[in-house]
Amino acid sequence: MLEVKNLTVQIENKQILKNLNLEVAAGEVHALMGPNGSGKSTLSKVIAGHPDIEEIEGQILFQGSNLLEISAEERALLGIFLSFQYPTEIPGLNNLDFLRAAYNSKRIKENKSEIDRTNFQELVRQKTEDLGFSDSQKFLTRDLNAGFSGGEKKRNELLQMSLLEPSLAILDEVDSGLDIDSLKIVSNGIKSLFQAEEKRALLLITHYQRLLDYLEPTHVHILYAGEIIKSGSKEIVEQLEKEGYEKFIQEHSDKHAKSKREKFL
Ligand code: ADP
Ligand code: MG
Repeated sequence: MLEVKNLTVQIENKQILKNLNLEVAAGEVHALMGPNGSGKSTLSKVIAGHPDIEEIEGQILFQGSNLLEISAEERALLGIFLSFQYPTEIPGLNNLDFLRAAYNSKRIKENKSEIDRTNFQELVRQKTEDLGFSDSQKFLTRDLNAGFSGGEKKRNELLQMSLLEPSLAILDEVDSGLDIDSLKIVSNGIKSLFQAEEKRALLLITHYQRLLDYLEPTHVHILYAGEIIKSGSKEIVEQLEKEGYEKFIQEHSDKHAKSKREKFL
């Protein structure tokens, strides 16, 4: 579904991602972990088409389309969804209007008729009920993310996801700053969307094992200084929880030094 090939990204003359390769197939759940500043959010933004990131080399293919040649809007319409680590507050833009506009763009793309306000409200009511968001009325009618609590922002991102039903959802630290009850609700919401359609794929950026206990990744990657230094299965998460990143980083730099030595000889 998603193929990232030799991706290199620079921001202000600094290399943020280095020759990164990643393949995600339908039905897979990939966890991307790594210390702060390693480039996780940058990767999610490059895939989604964030305008901040301009200097890009390499290729990103999504269901055969070359993503780097199309706009963020077009990528979203192809079925890519990014839940932001830090959702932007947009005072003056009513949340429900925003959600409906996003939903209707997808309807138009699928040659379906647009949904009106009343029917959309009913759809949202149903979705929030399915997601277990008992307090959603508090943030639905306000302006987009304006004054939302951390948990409300994340719930609103998930509501967007559940309305848009993406093929590939990239969730950037959707679990950070959530209390245990909110974490459960958010995880269950992600799980139910994912289980409803087995052709979907998830890329979860997280620091915590807890989310991964709920969502069981099929693949785990560790990103460090812009490189994937380790990929494997769920066991990596347990190892990380016990030992931290240091051991993986050391192993990687030992390997690197060895291959450099071998090249030299
Ligand atoms: P992570 O999500 O893994 O914590 P980020 O992708 O946010 O890491 O950041 C990776 C590196 O890129 C950091 O050193 C950060 O300071 C830098 N960076 C990210 N965005 C920008 C930007 N817009 N301008 C300058 N530096 C940036
Ligand atoms: Mg980040």
